[in-house]
Amino acid sequence: MADCAQCGVALQGSPLICGGCGAVQPVAATDYFAVLGLERRLGLDGAAVEREFHRLSRRLHPDRFARASEAEKQNSLAATALLNDAWRTLRDPVERVEYLLKLEGYAVGEEHAGKGKSAERQPPPDLLEEVFELNMQLEELRMSQRMGETADAEVVADLAAAEKRFAAMLNDVDAALVAEGARWDGGQGRAEAAARMIELLDRRRYVRNLVRDVRQSLTVTA
Ligand SMILES: [Zn+2]
Repeated sequence: MADCAQCGVALQGSPLICGGCGAVQPVAATDYFAVLGLERRLGLDGAAVEREFHRLSRRLHPDRFARASEAEKQNSLAATALLNDAWRTLRDPVERVEYLLKLEGYAVGEEHAGKGKSAERQPPPDLLEEVFELNMQLEELRMSQRMGETADAEVVADLAAAEKRFAAMLNDVDAALVAEGARWDGGQGRAEAAARMIELLDRRRYVRNLVRDVRQSLTVTA
């Protein structure tokens, strides 16, 4: 850990502020976990992290530096922006996984699917058949919408059922992400846990878009 730029005391917890003299530190290259004084872990005590976020927010608030030097004002603005980014990213369990994996050097999402081959557009192999069917029904629904005709009740019912099914699938993916996250935190089989989480993130993106498409189409009909 670095020392305070003002009083020289070793910084504890978040590197944004000195626990000794209270000086805001110049923002250095650091990661979001460190910003909040956290270890790089996927399992977080959300309430504790939120309290720490609010505590740091108050201490870094630019209003407190209204009469400080220009450098301190700039530090407080930069530190506040970094703190907000860190909190926004880490509070969301899915973004937290993506962020940590990237931090650890893994290619995630589009990076891993390759340029122009968006993972969002490639159905997971086990869903191919169901997605094919779903797209046919979506096409049928959109066609009747374009023609200004009443949508086929059976198609609408099938799509509504599919939406429910895929939404449930999203919940399963999230539960699996939590389980793999715990495996990662445990330190055993990290590479496998990472590979599995990258897969789950792809699946999540794909299914989420599917649910969104179906919802949109059904909303137009309703
Ligand atoms: Zn200090």
